[in-house]
Amino acid sequence: MPDTTQREAELLAAVPDQLFIGGAWVDSTSGRSIRVIDPSTGRTLKTIADASVADAASAMDAAVAAQADWARTAPRVRGEILRRAFDLLQERADDFALLMTLEMGKPLAEARGEVTYGGEFLRWFSEEAVRISGRYGTNPEGTGRTIVTHVPVGPSFLITPWNFPLAMATRKIAPALAAGCTAIVKPAELTPLTTLYFARLLEDAGLPAGVLQVITTSESKDVSAPIIADPRLRKLSFTGSTAVGVSLLKQAADGVLRTSMELGGNAPFVVFDDADLDKAVEGAMLAKFRNIGQACTAANRFIVHQSVADDFASRLTEKVLSLRVGRGTDDGVTIGPLINDGAVDKADALVQDAVDRGATLVTGGQRIEGEGSFYEPTVLTGVTPGSDILRQEIFGPVVSIIPFTDEADAVAKANDTEFGLVGYVFTRDLARGQRLIESLQTGMMGLNVGVVSNAAAPFGGVKQSGIGREGGLEGIHEYLETKYTLTPDPFA
Ligand code: ADP
Repeated sequence: MPDTTQREAELLAAVPDQLFIGGAWVDSTSGRSIRVIDPSTGRTLKTIADASVADAASAMDAAVAAQADWARTAPRVRGEILRRAFDLLQERADDFALLMTLEMGKPLAEARGEVTYGGEFLRWFSEEAVRISGRYGTNPEGTGRTIVTHVPVGPSFLITPWNFPLAMATRKIAPALAAGCTAIVKPAELTPLTTLYFARLLEDAGLPAGVLQVITTSESKDVSAPIIADPRLRKLSFTGSTAVGVSLLKQAADGVLRTSMELGGNAPFVVFDDADLDKAVEGAMLAKFRNIGQACTAANRFIVHQSVADDFASRLTEKVLSLRVGRGTDDGVTIGPLINDGAVDKADALVQDAVDRGATLVTGGQRIEGEGSFYEPTVLTGVTPGSDILRQEIFGPVVSIIPFTDEADAVAKANDTEFGLVGYVFTRDLARGQRLIESLQTGMMGLNVGVVSNAAAPFGGVKQSGIGREGGLEGIHEYLETKYTLTPDPFA
C-alpha cells in the first residue's frame, strides 16, 4: 500500500517546510528537523525545520520591527487582509481539511467542520478590527475631559496545541492582527503543517512582512523561554495543558506580561430525569466523540440521574456501537486515531483503573492492534468516586457515567474538580437550567446542546481552566490595552 495517495503527496509537497520570519521562508539555524507523523499509520508525512533559540530571536526582532507600522495601519486595511484570508480559506477548504486529517487524524467531515469554525475567526475579527472604539467624557468634578482609547498591546507570542490545528491558530492570530499586534506563532510540534500552510495563505492575502512569524520546534521549552523573557514581548497567549500553562504563567510574571490561558478541562455532562433523552444522547455523542474525544471541551464525566442512567447508557451504547473507527480519509469513518501511542496508553490506563475500582465496562476498553494509534470507543457505567477518570482529562473516546440522586448532588459532583471550562446540562425545566447556569463553576455552559464553540462567543474557563476569553466581543480586548488621558476643561 502506498504511504499516501497522489493527492495527499501533492498537498504535502505544497506545504512550506521552513520557518516564516520577517516575510521570508528561511531554514532553521539548528540544522535539525521535525518529522511530522500520520497518527493513523505511524508513517512520516513530511519533514520540516526545527527552530533554534537563535531563530526565535530573529522571529522576535522581526515582530518588533513590524509592530509600529502595523499598529498604524488603518483598521479597515487590517480587517480586509483578514477578510481576504477568510475568502482564500474557503477556496482552499478541501486542502486544509485533508491536511488536518493527515497530521491530526480527525475524520475528513470533522476537518471540514474545523475549516468552517476556524475560518469564522477570520471573518469575525475582520469585522471587529473596525469596531475598536473608546469614550470621551467630562470628569465628575467638571474640571477636565477624560479620553479612553484602546491601543494594541504589542508583539504577542501565540502557542497552540495539536488538537485543532487550524482553529486554535486562527482564534489567536485573527484577533491579534485585527487589534494591530504583530505576532510569533508556535504551533504544536505534532501538527505544525496546518499553521505553515496557513501562513502561506496569509502571505497570499497580502499580510505585510514581519506581522506574523511561524516557528516550529521540537524544543518548545528552550525556544519559548527566551521569547517570553524578552522585554519587548507584551503578550503571551497559550492553549494547552494546565501544567504547561502554570509554568508559562510563572515565566510571564517576570515580565509582567498580559496573558491569555486556555487550559485543561474536565467537563461535566449532566442529564436530569426530565431531559429529552434522545436529545441528550445526540448531544452526548457530539460532546464526547467530536475530535475523537480530544478536546478540552469534551464531556469527561456523564453525571446522570439514577432513574434514567440505565436508559441513557443503553441508548448511548447503541450509538457508540455504530461508530466506525479508521483512517480519517476513509469513507464512513467517524472515529480516527488518537494523536499517538502515549494517548492510547493514557486512555487505556484510565479505563483499567475505573474497572479495577468497580465500574462496568459496557463496550470497548481495548487498544486496537496494528498500525496507527487507535482505541476502541468505550462506555463505562457505575464509575466509582476516587477513580482517576473523574479527575483527569481522558482525551479519548471513552464515556464515563456516574449516577446522581438530586439537583444538589448533581451540582456537587459537577463542581468536584479543579477545572472549570465548560459544563453541559440537559433538562426541560427552564428554572432548573437557569439555576445550573449560576451554580456550575465553569466559564461556559451548553444548555440542551453538546457543542458550544462559536467564533462570536467568548470561549474560556474559570478555576484551573484558564484566564481570559477568545472570540466574541471580548476576544479582541485580549490584545488591546486601555489607555486613559485627562485634559483640562477647554472652557476654563
Ligand atoms: P498537550 O498536552 O495537549 O500536548 P501541551 O500543554 O503539552 O498540551 O502543549 C501545548 C503547546 O504548548 C504545544 O505547542 C507545545 O509544544 C507547547 N509547549 C509544551 N511545553 C512547553 C513549554 N515548557 N514552553 C512553551 N511551550 C510549551
